[in-house]
Amino acid sequence: MTIREVPLIIGGEKVRSKSDKWLDVLNPATQEVVARVPIATPEEVKAAVDSAEQAFKSWSQVSLTNRMRIMLNFQQLVREHTQELAELVTLEHGKTLPDAEGEVGRALEAIENACSVTRLQLGEMANNAATGVDTYTLNKPLGVGLGITAFNFPLMLPAFMFPPAVACGNTFVLKPSEQDPSSTIRFVELALEAGIPAGVLNVVHGDAGVVNQLIESDAVKAVSFIGSTAIGTQVYNHAAKHGKRAQAMMGAKNHMVIMPDANKDRAINDLLGSAFGAAGQRCMANPVTILVGEARKWLPEIAERAKLMKVGPGTQRDADLGPVVSPQAKQRILNILNSGVEQGATLLVDGRDCQVEGYPDGNFVGPTMFTDVTTDMDIYTQEIFGPALCVLEAETLDEAIEIINANPNGNGTSLFTSSGWAARKFENDIDVGQVGINVPIPVPVAYFSFTGSRGSKLGDLGPNGKQVVSFWTYTKSVTARWFEPDHQDGSAIHTTIS
Ligand code: NAD
Repeated sequence: MTIREVPLIIGGEKVRSKSDKWLDVLNPATQEVVARVPIATPEEVKAAVDSAEQAFKSWSQVSLTNRMRIMLNFQQLVREHTQELAELVTLEHGKTLPDAEGEVGRALEAIENACSVTRLQLGEMANNAATGVDTYTLNKPLGVGLGITAFNFPLMLPAFMFPPAVACGNTFVLKPSEQDPSSTIRFVELALEAGIPAGVLNVVHGDAGVVNQLIESDAVKAVSFIGSTAIGTQVYNHAAKHGKRAQAMMGAKNHMVIMPDANKDRAINDLLGSAFGAAGQRCMANPVTILVGEARKWLPEIAERAKLMKVGPGTQRDADLGPVVSPQAKQRILNILNSGVEQGATLLVDGRDCQVEGYPDGNFVGPTMFTDVTTDMDIYTQEIFGPALCVLEAETLDEAIEIINANPNGNGTSLFTSSGWAARKFENDIDVGQVGINVPIPVPVAYFSFTGSRGSKLGDLGPNGKQVVSFWTYTKSVTARWFEPDHQDGSAIHTTIS
């Protein structure tokens, strides 16, 4: 098998990096090297920003309708290439093919939201704000936008960023994850094929040095980051220090509360899917469950059903979960799981020594479940980002809410119940961005903004929905008065035209 070299995309062209620093991209199910990705040189990073800055002059003048039409073309091309994109995701990320196809669907929704720019970018107008005076707003693009994305959704996360930024009239530089860049590059190629002009959308690969150079570039006006809390906080602070508008969507430790009046079968099914699906590598996974009251009796059934989940390579369609992304990620996950045992939690389901027939080298970790978990243990305080579930118990819904609101993260949470009163109380009292009621992974459809509270988000405005247009534009207000011809000195304004 030939090893692909992942290109940079600068000025509408695929560019082979001149870097002497290249990283291997591995198939997580086999360790086979499938691609090599460069750390772009400072000259290449500069060329990408220069190209975006240059393209902004013309792109920002293109009509709303034409920008929207390119997004419509892009949506169509992505739909037509669903299989190809999903296979690339599975090859480098490891998630199962049905899961990867689901990710393409989520990316499509974000592109569809960008197609709504003709409505979302409209300004406001007050006719006769004073007599003969109109005040109105223009929502203008900012210039060059920068996006930095995590490995766990190599299509959906870039789709949260460049389609709306570009649809609003900005140009863009994307710095995708170096761990699974090939599907992202194919996605960007389709965007260019859809009609995004040369220079409007550029891609460079790299590390902290590349990201810092991008942030510090004068032409870059806004920075969108999706990834871990530690890196996101650094990126956000660095961007703010350099006067850039920034948003950082970061780490999570989501809790699913199961009330005793919930539909048991559905609740357990959804808990297992959301805790272990994608090998737990979703920012909206539920790695913690709180069983309230009598729901505690369901624990043995949850454990038995977790043991039945099928681990396999992502290409095996009936697998429930694939491998984790890298040997380093697997080792980090195992270290945290081992700490759970050392710190006194009870290991009810042990997936640490997970063997998959025919794939001896894959980064497999099986579903793992702990009970007797206290909130000071590493398995609770750290984001494991692997197929591991911590089970907590509570006497009441109030107690469960208190536990969740005391956690530093506020990305997602769900409640399973048949009580409307409990659901209403939960959605009002919980301090978390995305709330699910009998829905395990409550990522909102893309015409709502993605949000987050406390440690999971920095910046006011989130991706998607209406907020994304506010993030990628600035508002000018115009106050205008027009004088009747022949009286342009304003000395005698006629209020009627004869
Ligand atoms: P990460 O923070 O390691 O990497 C994210 C991006 O930052 C990558 O492009 C990476 O190359 C870059 N990067 C790494 N080190 C950097 C540095 N020192 N300076 C600047 N950039 C740097 O995250 P990851 O492991 O790729 O993704 C998993 C994390 O992302 C989890 O914490 C998950 O919860 C989070 N995530 C959050 C959301 C959300 O919407 N809240 C969505 C998806 C993933």
